[in-house]
Amino acid sequence: LKNKFFSVLPIGGVDEIGSNMTLIRTAHEDIVIDCGLLFPYEECFDINYLVPDFGLLDETRVKNIVITHGHEDHIGGLSQLLAKLPNIKLWVTPFTHHLVRKKLEEFRIDFNFQIYQSGQDISFQQLDITPVHVNHSIPETNGLVIRTKDRQWGALYISDFKVDLKSKHEDPMDLQLIKNKLSECSQTAYFIDSTNVIFDGKTTSENELLPDLEGLINRQEDRVFITLFASNVHRMNAICLMAKRAGRKIVVMGRSLWNYMEAARESGHSDLTLEDFHTPDQAKGQTGKMLIFLSGCQGDFLSALRRFSFGEDGTFKPQPGDLVIFSSKVIPGNEKKIFRIYNKLTQFGAEIITAYDHLIHASGHPGKEDLKILIDSFLPTYYFPIHGESYMLKKHQEFLFQSYPTVKTLVIHNYDEVILGESSIKIEHHESKEPILIHGKNLIIEKTQISQRRKMATQGSVFITYQKQNKLIEISLLGLPLMAQEHLDQLKKRLLNQIENDLHHRESNYFKDQLKISTRQFFNHLLGYKPVTEVHLF
Ligand SMILES: [Zn+2]
Repeated sequence: LKNKFFSVLPIGGVDEIGSNMTLIRTAHEDIVIDCGLLFPYEECFDINYLVPDFGLLDETRVKNIVITHGHEDHIGGLSQLLAKLPNIKLWVTPFTHHLVRKKLEEFRIDFNFQIYQSGQDISFQQLDITPVHVNHSIPETNGLVIRTKDRQWGALYISDFKVDLKSKHEDPMDLQLIKNKLSECSQTAYFIDSTNVIFDGKTTSENELLPDLEGLINRQEDRVFITLFASNVHRMNAICLMAKRAGRKIVVMGRSLWNYMEAARESGHSDLTLEDFHTPDQAKGQTGKMLIFLSGCQGDFLSALRRFSFGEDGTFKPQPGDLVIFSSKVIPGNEKKIFRIYNKLTQFGAEIITAYDHLIHASGHPGKEDLKILIDSFLPTYYFPIHGESYMLKKHQEFLFQSYPTVKTLVIHNYDEVILGESSIKIEHHESKEPILIHGKNLIIEKTQISQRRKMATQGSVFITYQKQNKLIEISLLGLPLMAQEHLDQLKKRLLNQIENDLHHRESNYFKDQLKISTRQFFNHLLGYKPVTEVHLF
């Protein structure tokens, strides 16, 4: 890269929702934007999460990472990143800093950081980066205006936003600042969120939800339960104020909700005090007017919502007369888990209200009308849809072709490097890398091991021990139907015969392999599939 120019290289978050990470490269240094996690696809088999491969990060060049906001798909990979680049400086806003600190404390990881405010110019060796306040579904979200020192090029990078002009809890998105900063540049490029582009209209304002939410809360005599994305601090605040006005006791169930409220209090996003909230222990045995927050709106296995809905919670059990409000959407892939929860609650006699019934959830991402407001306020030369599944990127491009035919709109993929050069742009492809799988104590687990796990889980396991000296064989089964147990003597006999007739004078590996093959055949005949089989010789 020549001195004056820079490039934008996404290594996560394009063609997928999650694991947002982008590398900004210049001649002398590279700057990272965000480091998020991806929640596992089903085929990854119950691991914790995935993070992008950090192979392209060169520790001699990468000294800074700018975090746009505190969602997991933007900060969830930081502990892995810091293991590779322990000295990297994190640029964060105060609220995001609380979230990051909390997350890294868990792993006892220290980190360098620098607090920034929206609108402040951050000066790097060859670039100036200006964080721009945008609306989203978590406080202190920023887009980034990235400009060369000579203002030849300016780029706007916003992976998550919406335009909320009616917002009362925070300022509307700062469109004027984007215009001011980019107007100084000869050439401009946008890198923009595609998550909600299939929606033709304008994304609902957070404010528009309040009447329906308050109506529902006030309608109810006794207990109201409500679940929402824990990071949606502004909505939780608004609901708490409704509860206070209605004389309801506020109970919070779930650690993630407590964490976000703490971060909100510490960084000035909530006037509520600790006395306003009750723990489940404090609420135990109490009746009357209550509003109970439940974490886990996606039906996660260990969440408060799931525990409660299945009647497994020690403090509250669902009962007729309860109202359970889902102020959230169903993230694709979680339908089954959530519908089971709807069913359980209904069977207990509780009433459920979802965003299909009332206006009680708003997306944090831009519909086409939001995008128009952004593009109309400043028309860029180039435009790159990012942050979204492949089909969303394509729809985003089609929308630009139709509504803004003069803008050069290109679909890029992870590992496509957009070079903002002398007179035009160039795209260079890098070999793409598979994301890394993380499980347990923040440890990497290889894909081969995951496929082994899948086999054990779907086909069960057989363990065989053979003691040569005493000619004793032991077999134990895991995860096979109980009827298989009744056939064990038969299997033992067959294996002992095989040993007697052929295997006893063979070398160990051959011996083991033959027993394995026989066992798997035996079970295939019996069950219709071959369990994972391990043979030990003594
Ligand atoms: Zn976000």
